[in-house]
Amino acid sequence: MLTLYLKRGKDESLRRYHPWIFSGAVHHIDGHPEEGDLVRVVTADGDFIAVGHWQIGSIAVRVLTFADEPIDAAFWHSRLSTALSVRQAVGLAGREDNTTFRLVHGEGDMLPGLVVDVYGNTAVVQAHSVGMHVCRREIASALQGLEGLEIDNIYYKSETTLPFKADLGQENGFLVGGDADDVALENGLRFHIDWLRGQKTGFFVDQRDNRSLVEHYSRGRNVLNMFCYTGGFSVYAMRGGAAKVHSVDSSAKAVELVNANVELNFPGDSRHEAFAEDAFRFLQQMDDGAYDLIILDPPAFAKHKDALRNALKGYTRLNLRAFEKIRPGGVLFTFSCSQAVSKEQFRTAVFTAAAISGRSVRILHQLHQPADHPISIYHPEGEYLKGLVLYVE
Ligand code: SAH
Repeated sequence: MLTLYLKRGKDESLRRYHPWIFSGAVHHIDGHPEEGDLVRVVTADGDFIAVGHWQIGSIAVRVLTFADEPIDAAFWHSRLSTALSVRQAVGLAGREDNTTFRLVHGEGDMLPGLVVDVYGNTAVVQAHSVGMHVCRREIASALQGLEGLEIDNIYYKSETTLPFKADLGQENGFLVGGDADDVALENGLRFHIDWLRGQKTGFFVDQRDNRSLVEHYSRGRNVLNMFCYTGGFSVYAMRGGAAKVHSVDSSAKAVELVNANVELNFPGDSRHEAFAEDAFRFLQQMDDGAYDLIILDPPAFAKHKDALRNALKGYTRLNLRAFEKIRPGGVLFTFSCSQAVSKEQFRTAVFTAAAISGRSVRILHQLHQPADHPISIYHPEGEYLKGLVLYVE
């Protein structure tokens, strides 16, 4: 393993267990690492600090361990077993009525660059770093060896998440098995998971708890699920006793998916209708007071810090439309999944929209990512999903 020497004084954040080493902190490396290689990180004086994956870019190393230990089968087994213990502790793994959860959430599970979502007996593995890509087969073996989790299929899906310059020529595909059932259960509801073509690993696992809250508020309400994708919120709203549920997404494929998922749980139920339309257009054209429960769960408006200003304006514009049209006494669920947008900034964007609309608005709940998307206390950047539930007079 190559040794990476830090500049003097650049070990401070690592002493606080922050898992990233920026390229500016690197003094030199003994040898010539390839992207994805393991490096042993030492101080200017040669004292051991960490082991991690070397990468090209502003983050030079993503730390796997602060212990002087080999990154071998035992390491992967230990990290994944701990991740599973966490999901068992929070009551997600090993349930009959819920077979969908995130097993590995990158830095939150001390595995930077790795995401693993479990759908029944299928695990979808996603690498966000070349280092994790290189280790994918070891990770797959470790997944199969976990006690308390039956994994028969492992689908590897990293085509869009790996740095494209790395030019790995890696196709998405099954590393293990392949004859997988595409229906998974979330809180007793059934969902088709399209890991082959779907966004992320096929499903937005991170909204599970927030969907339950929508279910709680749905009785008798006219629900608008904007940016519905596979329709998670819609299906929960129907179980919650909504009078009607309208799902909107600009993608025709998403509309097919939501219709299929509603049919899977509530065959022939005429309360639901889906529309392939642009969100802003739909909100502008809809009748005043047509809905008294609106969900806004848009894609990340700011993927990077430079896009922040426009993103905040986008959130304000979107929420303003909802405030203008929601029926008095309505409940608005509004989200941002942009990591670059802080909780405070998002709240300010929504506050601005409320003020422009002149409606009286109360915050009922402040929402965030669920326990299977944990945040390492040493890596606050891991916090990305935030939401507000608002009562609009
Ligand atoms: N709420 C979903 C996840 C939303 S992902 C869930 O719980 O699973 C964001 C979705 O917004 C995508 O499906 C994308 O097709 C859709 N989208 C992006 N831009 C849009 C626009 N301008 N109008 C409507 N939908 C849009």
